[in-house]
Amino acid sequence: MGKIDIVVIGSGHNGLVAAAYLAAAGRRVLVLERNGWFGGGVVTRELTLPGFLHDQHSIAHIFIHANPLLAADELKLKAKYGLRYVFPDPPMMSVFEDGSTLGMYRDRERTCADIAKFSRKDADAYRRLANQAAAWLPMVASTLYTAPAPLGASFALLDQSREGREFWRIVQMSTHDVLCEYFEHDKVRMHFARIAGENLISPDEKSTGLGVFVFVGFMEAYGIGVPIGGSGRLTDALIACIKDFGGDVLANVDVAHVLTKNGRATGVATTKGQEYEARDAVIGAIHPHHLGRMVGGLDAEVVRAAEATQISPVACITILAALKAPLRFKAGAHVSGAMIELLPNNYEQLRRSFDDLRYGGLSRYPLVGLGSLTMFDPSRAPKGCAELHAWDYVPYERPDGRSWDESKRDYAERMLAHMGGFIENVGPVDILQYHCDSPADMERTSSSFQRGDLHGIATTSYQSGAHRPTPELGQFTVPGVERLYLVGPFQHPGGGVFGAGRATAVKLAEDLKIDLSKIAR
Ligand SMILES: Cc1cc2nc3c(=O)[nH]c(=O)nc-3n(C[C@H](O)[C@H](O)[C@H](O)COP(=O)(O)OP(=O)(O)OC[C@H]3O[C@@H](n4cnc5c(N)ncnc54)[C@H](O)[C@@H]3O)c2cc1C
Repeated sequence: MGKIDIVVIGSGHNGLVAAAYLAAAGRRVLVLERNGWFGGGVVTRELTLPGFLHDQHSIAHIFIHANPLLAADELKLKAKYGLRYVFPDPPMMSVFEDGSTLGMYRDRERTCADIAKFSRKDADAYRRLANQAAAWLPMVASTLYTAPAPLGASFALLDQSREGREFWRIVQMSTHDVLCEYFEHDKVRMHFARIAGENLISPDEKSTGLGVFVFVGFMEAYGIGVPIGGSGRLTDALIACIKDFGGDVLANVDVAHVLTKNGRATGVATTKGQEYEARDAVIGAIHPHHLGRMVGGLDAEVVRAAEATQISPVACITILAALKAPLRFKAGAHVSGAMIELLPNNYEQLRRSFDDLRYGGLSRYPLVGLGSLTMFDPSRAPKGCAELHAWDYVPYERPDGRSWDESKRDYAERMLAHMGGFIENVGPVDILQYHCDSPADMERTSSSFQRGDLHGIATTSYQSGAHRPTPELGQFTVPGVERLYLVGPFQHPGGGVFGAGRATAVKLAEDLKIDLSKIAR
């Protein structure tokens, strides 16, 4: 490869998305990845037995479907580079300990019928909530794939109208406050509270109330996309696109720091001492806690604020299992969904489990969610078999002082025993082999997932929008260093498969006068 225009640190999907846009716009890009594989949190690997394709991290592609990247197939990932999705319906289901279930369907009336099993009043309330969610969705979606607007100006705008003030009120409430306002039945509240908990946040955390509306709006409008062949097929499609436009992606290259000259990023140096020059710019998946180490000469206050960003006390642990046969739920054969949440009968137990984590303890009730995507994509396992991806939330440091490396199998067995209360065939005779990633493993697979926080840093109001990760780093740029741009779950709009690298590419293109409109559509 000749001279490089743009070097990208990290082959997470966000770095790849940014690289692919800029490659398609005619720039020569090079992506450098520390791991021996590509994709960061969007990766599919044979981690147990041959023929079992496991999504090591993300399984559910939700928010990327409203991104023009896929909504308009701007880079032809679907039309040309083989990316295909199925959209299960229901996308999501809660299964309670007593065998009752509550599905969240694409069709509002089907969801209402399920809610009415618990409370007719709540079914009506859901209609109101879903109506409001649908009305707000275009506005919310329009903020997700570009650089965030200044927070002060946004709130001033909201303050101009009754609807804006209502939106702002919801933004400031906790998920629990919102759920109590709308619903009366404990299980209905719990169903939505658990969904909100997927943001690694307690339903009692203030300023999380909008999440319910965003989730409901997205579920109805887009559902959950399950990529055929695995989550990593998105990564594969992006790499194929980059290579098609003359770019390259290299594995096993660990970037130690960004090279700068006269206040401008000029390339990167690897831990092995190799240097890659970038004529135009560097894009980096640089966690805010590592910014000072990766980029020399920064203003001390920029580094201090970045290092002060807070990580969620809710870390993730996963089991990826090769199963002899598809899951058989005790609640019945109707249990289905890309995401299935296993819940107690009592909402207070769920709330107190999040409190346990807040205090650094193990949750009293395992917060297990799972996906067995062979239900919708049999290509992920040998004929007749199935794969399972289950997750739970734990503290990064165990309260008993044991290391996760030494204790993760014990914890995985606790999760499986708990799942056995809901599922007939997750015992030792049913599982051919399983792989467990503790919070310590998460951190090793990507530096984004510090302390097992799969969103990089906590998704709290003071670390959101234009203030994510900090007010000075919120526009994907780094004060004091020109031509250095940021991607990652710790940037706006946050953790998840958003394709947020598009916003970084747009910002870079504006600064460097690169015409992205020339990208063939
Ligand atoms: C267990 C788990 C389950 C999840 N489930 C879902 C889900 O179902 N749905 C969803 O939407 N989201 C999910 N997420 C979150 C989602 O996976 C991430 O938010 C998303 O993948 C982040 O993408 P990214 O490109 O910004 O960063 P990453 O995917 O973290 O990629 C960063 C890449 O950069 C590389 N890198 C970093 N520093 C360097 C360096 N110095 N040199 C070279 N390479 C470097 C890393 O190795 C990594 O490959 C999950 C995350 C986890 C951990």
